[in-house]
Amino acid sequence: MKNRWAETPDNEIDQLVYQSRLVGAEESLVLWGGGNNSVKAHSTDLLGAPIPVMYIKSSGSDMKTIVPKEFPAVRLDYIEPLRSRDGEMSDQEMVDYLARCVVDPSSRRPSIETLLHAFLPARAVLHTHADAILALTNTRGRETTVRECFGDSVITVPYLRPGFRLSRDVADAFASKPDAEGLVLMNHGLITWGDTAREAYEKHVELVSRAEEYLSRGSRESGVGATTPDTRHPTPELLAPAIRGALGAKRSVILEFDGSEDVLRFLARDDAKRITQIGPATPDHLLYTKRYPLFLEAGDDVSKALNDYVERYTAHYKNYPSEFAMLDPHPRVVLVPGAGMWTAGKDARAARIVRDIYRHTMRIIESAQGAGGYETLNDEDAFHAEYWPLELYKLTLLPKEKELAGKVAIVTGAASGIGRACAERFAEEGAHVVVTDVDIALAEEVAKSIVAKHGLRRAIALRLDVSGEDDVERAYAETIAAYGGVDIIVSNAGISSFGSLDVLPAADWDRAFAVNARGHFLVARAALRVMKQQKTGGSIVFNASKNVTAPGKEFGAYSVSKAAEAQLCRIVALEGGEFGIRANMLNPDAIFGGSRFWSDEMRSMRATAYGISSENLPDFYRNRTLLKTEVTADDVAEAALFLAGPRSSKTTGAMVPVDGGVKEAFPR
Ligand code: NAD
Repeated sequence: MKNRWAETPDNEIDQLVYQSRLVGAEESLVLWGGGNNSVKAHSTDLLGAPIPVMYIKSSGSDMKTIVPKEFPAVRLDYIEPLRSRDGEMSDQEMVDYLARCVVDPSSRRPSIETLLHAFLPARAVLHTHADAILALTNTRGRETTVRECFGDSVITVPYLRPGFRLSRDVADAFASKPDAEGLVLMNHGLITWGDTAREAYEKHVELVSRAEEYLSRGSRESGVGATTPDTRHPTPELLAPAIRGALGAKRSVILEFDGSEDVLRFLARDDAKRITQIGPATPDHLLYTKRYPLFLEAGDDVSKALNDYVERYTAHYKNYPSEFAMLDPHPRVVLVPGAGMWTAGKDARAARIVRDIYRHTMRIIESAQGAGGYETLNDEDAFHAEYWPLELYKLTLLPKEKELAGKVAIVTGAASGIGRACAERFAEEGAHVVVTDVDIALAEEVAKSIVAKHGLRRAIALRLDVSGEDDVERAYAETIAAYGGVDIIVSNAGISSFGSLDVLPAADWDRAFAVNARGHFLVARAALRVMKQQKTGGSIVFNASKNVTAPGKEFGAYSVSKAAEAQLCRIVALEGGEFGIRANMLNPDAIFGGSRFWSDEMRSMRATAYGISSENLPDFYRNRTLLKTEVTADDVAEAALFLAGPRSSKTTGAMVPVDGGVKEAFPR
């Protein structure tokens, strides 16, 4: 590992931030909020009297992007006496106590490992979950492995969950060997210290490098037993919906796929199945990845394999009395030799965290295999790490899930107008949105703004001409590659076409049908295939038109092709019903704002037909509605959300007008 310390900021907090950023940038040290660091300093209390304090990383902050305010100051004069406290201190007592030690009550919650830092006398302390240390300490005979690597220069402390007892054990171990270079926490990580943040960092780099060097010798000697990848599995696009459906039978999940060379090579090992069923590299990881991945071999039935997994988890849960209800028993990592790895999460960010962690787990397992054999937490430790009251309490604080949480929605024609409004509204409600359009530049803008507002991978943009068979198939394959499947379709793309029948060119008729009829057919056909594979139902919303029930003269190609779309919707409802796939249609009318549907030419044509001027067209449409109201793209998106989501779960084959009330369009 390279020492990247290049400059030393003036004050101690900035040095701590600088150290964090260097550590955070190194994925082999910490991932997604892992690790913590501190520096002891002096400050003053409210009345100006000097007090000893420690700046410590706050709980959950990410070292990669941390800023000074994420280091709350805690009073050491309150914390130090705890070291000689009689008896135990529960996690909750510790958290409550620490909350009263922060100098500024409005600051963030200090790390759960605050006591561990505070009980060590060194000024600067750094703790990470370095891959190389996890590999050494997850070996059979871990004490010997660590000794072989470091000699007597480091202290080791057996595995214990973070908390009061571990902090005291660490302090005692340090006191018995104050000249040690560092301290290795079994199955957990490395602690180094120094007078400055720089010293603690440089010692960390030195020890991790020694561990890496030691492990590389092991893997050279062991020779990894890679075989040719097993290619008997169906391609990832075919497997993913079945996996996603099985994992999301109760609660939808987003998948991330990783078919990289590293992963395929690891999965091609003769012993891949066995070594992936040993356990996580550290208890922290367990909360994200679960204890074991689901390992699928060629010919395995996905549902059966998953049921077996759930049974195994349930038996593990029942082994230990617990006041807590069983957590989600489904795997978060699915490994398929020859295909790759899928990771699952309640959203794309969660799936990404699991992916990153498991990629490192694979490396740790391989290194540990080379250094004597991977061996990790026992059953009981694993149980208590997962059912840790502090973590479970955090879960109860999570906000209520949004209506479309964990759902994937494809919206066609989503670069502008109604499609765009649907994409944005659905994202607001938790959906991951595939923004598709022939206008890819504008579609990308929409997706970008959704990601900026809602976070990592919450939208992607795809170029899709709905009238092209190959285009449609490709868009679904890309959606599956991105998220694992699809639950909701808003089949919205459409074009206007006008002209009285006696003069209408056949090409105009064909063009209207290509998009407004064939396009919906191709999109619905592909959706039905994927949804049937997922076996979790689905909802298809067709954006038709008020013209379906009240056609307009000189609007023949449009009205007839929209009527075909309406009839298609009913057939989809008929054929999809037994699979839980619903199909409903919206009939909007006269949406002007944000829509590119009303070209100047069409405006003038419709204005002439009604004997009014073009500018008066929106007013004309508004005045002819029963509610005397203007209908907007957002109004249509709201209705689409209702039809897409669980609130309309008993409705299929329906037609919902969003037109302000047009009596001529009442269904007859
Ligand atoms: P819009 O023109 O703003 O949006 C339609 C989008 O579809 C555009 O971004 C366009 O690039 C895209 N598109 C066109 N052809 C496509 C193709 N072959 N494949 C993929 N994308 C394509 O119009 P809008 O008002 O938002 O219309 C959306 C839907 O609403 C259409 O089906 C339309 O018939 C229907 N509708 C609109 C109104 C209205 O008054 N605006 C009324 C009733 C129904």
